[in-house]
Amino acid sequence: MHTPDETHDPALRSWVESANGHANFPIQNLPFGVFERDGRRSGGVAIGDQIVDLSAVTVGGVLSSLAADAARLGSGPVLNPLLAAGRAPARELRQQLSVALAVDAPEQVREQLRAALVPQADVTLVRPVAIGAFTDFLSSYDHTRRMGNGTMPPAFAHLPIAYNSRATSVVVSGTAIRRPNGQIALDGTPAFQPEPMLDFELELGAFVAAGNAFGEPVDIAAANDMLFGYCLVNDWSARAIQFFEMQPLGPFLSKSFATTISPWIVTVDALAPFRAPLRRPDAIAGPPSHLSDADDLANGALEVRLEAAIRTGHGETVVTRTHARYNVWTFGQMLAHHTSNGCNLMPGDLLASGTISGPADENRACLAELTERGTVPIRIAGDEERTFLNDGDEVVFRAHAERDGYVTIGFGECRGTVLPALT
Ligand code: MN
Repeated sequence: MHTPDETHDPALRSWVESANGHANFPIQNLPFGVFERDGRRSGGVAIGDQIVDLSAVTVGGVLSSLAADAARLGSGPVLNPLLAAGRAPARELRQQLSVALAVDAPEQVREQLRAALVPQADVTLVRPVAIGAFTDFLSSYDHTRRMGNGTMPPAFAHLPIAYNSRATSVVVSGTAIRRPNGQIALDGTPAFQPEPMLDFELELGAFVAAGNAFGEPVDIAAANDMLFGYCLVNDWSARAIQFFEMQPLGPFLSKSFATTISPWIVTVDALAPFRAPLRRPDAIAGPPSHLSDADDLANGALEVRLEAAIRTGHGETVVTRTHARYNVWTFGQMLAHHTSNGCNLMPGDLLASGTISGPADENRACLAELTERGTVPIRIAGDEERTFLNDGDEVVFRAHAERDGYVTIGFGECRGTVLPALT
């Protein structure tokens, strides 16, 4: 499953010139998304600064039957039908597009595919999936340690702690985010007011492919095969609302007002060269046996470097540099844990990793950590200070999968600008 193949060949180049050397979408990536043009939505595959319109490829007839099926399933306004078919059709489509987009593809194939290309600059990228359920996990040891002032929750080492978050308010990159009003009791007296401690959380998300039947847990050995691909997630967090409301049932309005995802789904197949063993600090116990599988322990982690920036009128400042390897739970373990009680997951459900913080100061992946809960400001462009987000601030996430001997592939961007609270 995690074996690199000819689609990851670093020598592979595309006749779509902008793909060669592209920071995010070289021919080795080929992520899936949905775009809107002239009021019509269609699934597509990113290649350089272009998109292969899957509804046009179907008509073109350059694909074999399984790949053509995948293109048809992915050609609608959401990718759920493609996810529901499991990973195999999408894998076949990615492989055939890799051949058809390569420099040595026959001119006849190029001609047909060229007619299906759409410049990314001419379209609007939209939310690629109708998300029925969204679960946010807690998989960073360092985030948990810092947020708990050194005290770890008793369950942390034994299971990937999670809460059911809100699917309806998951929005695509570029959507403005309104600062929420809520009940806040920083001085002990609750008052309904604009959130003063608005924060980001830098996370990765995973989309569920085919899902599991009600009452039927997914074995850890099968869990990774149920994932379709990954995106960036900004789990916007209203800290003052959160600190007052979260005992004892967990966060609610402090998280449900908005979550931003990047528009492209980087497939599990594209990330095959970028798998890594799960690593955990000595301070915590190993995962329990029902969440331990030899392949998942050896390949379940991701070699993905991530950064978060704050952008204002004075420019952009990268405030976080971190790495997915710091997570102590894999997405396979999250999925197996989620279904271990018989809970059914559906195609398009979103699992988020939780804030991806690491041990170093620069790895702190939310402002509550970066500013020690607002007590130590950070400095950003224009000689300004921030403890939490101001109105007008834009938060920008980027991530790249990197490994020596392979072409780096990227997730694109996950952006959102803060609007003032309603009065
Ligand atoms: Mn989170």
